Amino acid sequence: MSKEVKAWGATSPEKTEPITITRRAPDDQDVGIDIKFSGICHSDIHTVRSEWGKTTYPLVVGHEIAGIVSAVGKNVTKFKIGDHVGVGCMVNSCRQCENCRDGEEQYCFSGAVLTYNSKDPKDGTITQGGYSQHVVVDQAFVLKVPESIPLDKAAPLMCAGITLYSPLNHWKAGPGKRVGIIGFGGLGHMGVKLAKALGSEVTVFSQTNSKKELGLRLGADDYVATSDPDVFSKLSRKFDLIINTVSASIPLELYLSCLRRDGSLVQVGAPEKPLLISPFSLDAQRVGLHGSMIGGIAETQKMLDLCGEKLIFPEIEIIPASYIDEAYERVLRSQVKFRFVIDISTM
Ligand code: NAP
Ligand code: ZN
Ligand code: ZN
Repeated sequence: MSKEVKAWGATSPEKTEPITITRRAPDDQDVGIDIKFSGICHSDIHTVRSEWGKTTYPLVVGHEIAGIVSAVGKNVTKFKIGDHVGVGCMVNSCRQCENCRDGEEQYCFSGAVLTYNSKDPKDGTITQGGYSQHVVVDQAFVLKVPESIPLDKAAPLMCAGITLYSPLNHWKAGPGKRVGIIGFGGLGHMGVKLAKALGSEVTVFSQTNSKKELGLRLGADDYVATSDPDVFSKLSRKFDLIINTVSASIPLELYLSCLRRDGSLVQVGAPEKPLLISPFSLDAQRVGLHGSMIGGIAETQKMLDLCGEKLIFPEIEIIPASYIDEAYERVLRSQVKFRFVIDISTM
């Protein structure tokens, strides 16, 4: 049977508030999940504020979901009631195109079905995300949370974790590689932890030195403030890989000048405004500018297993649902160390 559940939804770009939503009854392939924690990603804010185009209000955002299985359809083999599980940014895809077959469902030719603000092919409704008590998701898009990861800390791995792991993995960050991470926020701090775990040398590019001590404590080898104009000449041609997590449009030339010959700058930040670059900043050292979007389901599971084995957890601040609007303001001011996680029991 479908059920009504409590949620916290955006009713306009300015405001989130308590609402009730309906979750479908699990079909044969579905898993019903009682959500315990939901992370706040900057993408939630871009969406709530309609910065990426059309948002259908009211909308429940949240794609860093961690919870416990409370129902399974009759063909579900991967999960049983009581399992600790997670759901990230996607809840379905065509499963037939070349990218889906390669396990890169996030790049599905038909467009992956996103956890919120997407049309759900199973019932035609607009998908509603994790700031809610319960969600129903096809087993193919549900992740196993290793026992060693507490559920509150598992939540941010579902987006921030995989979004940094995937490019680090794809561009082969590892011993002997120098990696730069631009922006020390939710994504950025996971980038530092994961790049270190993979054995690379890591430098943080932050706007100021206010989080420097913390950055070095979390494993960064170097931490620089981009407000210092000398930084870019000092770090000229030093990096193999730089990942830009910044949520605003910043001048990329300066960072491209920090790449070695054939180095790669990977854009994961998704600002509302376009990025401007001069072609010469690419030509000069045959450097590449790339993008990367979350990661596939198998790759996400691999990242979770690595985090479970090496005890790599995000730094979180747990908040009640009533604090979401205030939390958004603090994220926009870079005043969170480093991810807000909503305790769903406060809903
Ligand atoms: P976040 O926690 O707000 O972190 C962004 C960081 O960027 C801030 O902490 C700040 O770092 C820096 N920053 C913010 N405004 C800046 C500005 N005007 N100039 C320079 N630096 C600035 O956000 P997040 O959750 O990590 O998400 C970051 C971006 O990635 C968002 O655009 C989000 O939508 C996108 N995203 C993309 C994917 C993907 O699959 N590609 C997945 C998830 C999120 P400092 O304080 O260190 O300067
Ligand atoms: Zn996200
Ligand atoms: Zn596909």
